[in-house]
Amino acid sequence: MARIGFIGLGNMGGPMAANLVRAGHAVLGFDTVPAAREAAAGVTIVELAAEAARDADAVITMLPSGPIVRAVYEAADGILPAARAGTLFIDCSTIDVDSARAAHAMAAGRGMLSLDAPVSGGVGGASAGTLTFMAGGSAEAFERGEPLLAAMGRRIVHCGGAGAGQAAKICNNMILGISMIAVSEAFALADRLGLDRQKLFDVASTASGQCWSLTSYCPVPGPVPASPANHEYRPGFAAALMLKDLGLAMEAAAATGTETALGRHARDIYAAFAESGHGGEDFSAIFRAISAASKPA
Ligand code: NAD
Repeated sequence: MARIGFIGLGNMGGPMAANLVRAGHAVLGFDTVPAAREAAAGVTIVELAAEAARDADAVITMLPSGPIVRAVYEAADGILPAARAGTLFIDCSTIDVDSARAAHAMAAGRGMLSLDAPVSGGVGGASAGTLTFMAGGSAEAFERGEPLLAAMGRRIVHCGGAGAGQAAKICNNMILGISMIAVSEAFALADRLGLDRQKLFDVASTASGQCWSLTSYCPVPGPVPASPANHEYRPGFAAALMLKDLGLAMEAAAATGTETALGRHARDIYAAFAESGHGGEDFSAIFRAISAASKPA
C-alpha cells in the first residue's frame, strides 16, 4: 500500500482522501483551513504541505486554481522540493491548461512523474468513490497513477500528454454549459407555446434534441426525479463552478485562437447569473433566470 500526501482537503479533496484511506493507503493530509483538516476521515493531518510530500510515493493536490497549484508545487516550502526523486505528482484540481503544463514541467525538472487528472462527478461522486478522472501525462505516470485513481473513481481515461486531462475537462464542460442553456430555453419556449413540459421531454429525450442536460439533469421539475430541479436546485454542480470552467475554456480559446461564440455567450450568461446572487445554486437553475427574463407564460 502506498504512502500518499494529499494537499487540499475541501469539499472534494476531503472525501477523496478518505477513500484512499479506506483502500488501505497511508494518507498524510494538509489544508490551510483548520475546518477542512478535521473533515477528512482517517487522514493523518500534518502542519506543512512539504511534510505531506516528504517520503511519499505519490502526492495528490485538489486545489482551487492554477496559481495556487503552481505555488504549492514550487515554493521553497512547497511539495516538489520536499519530495524524493521519482515521486508521482497528481493534480486533480480543475485549472487552466497552461498552469497544468507548467506543473508538469516543474515536476519533470526535479525528476518526478506527473499527471493532470481533473474529475467530474462532484461532491457526491467524491464521497461515493465514483468520480471520472481525465488524465494527462506520460504512459509511465498513468500506469503508476491509475490504481490510486481507481480507489477514488469508477472511470479513468488517459487522454494524452501533459494538460490533456484539463483540455478534456473544459471541452466537456463547455458542451455542458451550452447544452443546459439550450435545454432551458426550449422549456421556456414550450411553456409560452402551451406545450406540456412532460410532452416536450417525452419527444426530445428520444429524438434529435436528446442530450445529458435533458435526459439526466432536466432543468425543470418533473421529468427526471433525481435532477436538482426537483430539489430546489441545490447543487449538484454549483453555477459558480460552471462559470469557473467556462472561464477556463474561454481562456484556452483565446490562447489558441479558437472561435467559440456559444461558449463565450454561455460564460456571459452564467456570469450574470452568478453576479445576481445565484452562484451557489445548481447550474441548471439557469432555467429560472431564462424563464423569469421571458414574458409571462
Ligand atoms: P474547496 O474550496 O472546497 O476546496 C479547496 C481546498 O483547498 C480548501 O479546503 C482550501 O482551504 C484548500 N487550499 C487552498 N489553498 C491551499 C494551499 N495553498 N495549501 C493547502 N490547501 C489549500 O473546493 P472543491 O469544491 O473541493 O474543489 C476543488 C477543485 O476541484 C477545484 O479546482 C474545483 O474546480 C474542482 N472540482 C470541484 C467540483 C465540485 O463539485 N465541488 C467538481 C469537479 C471539480
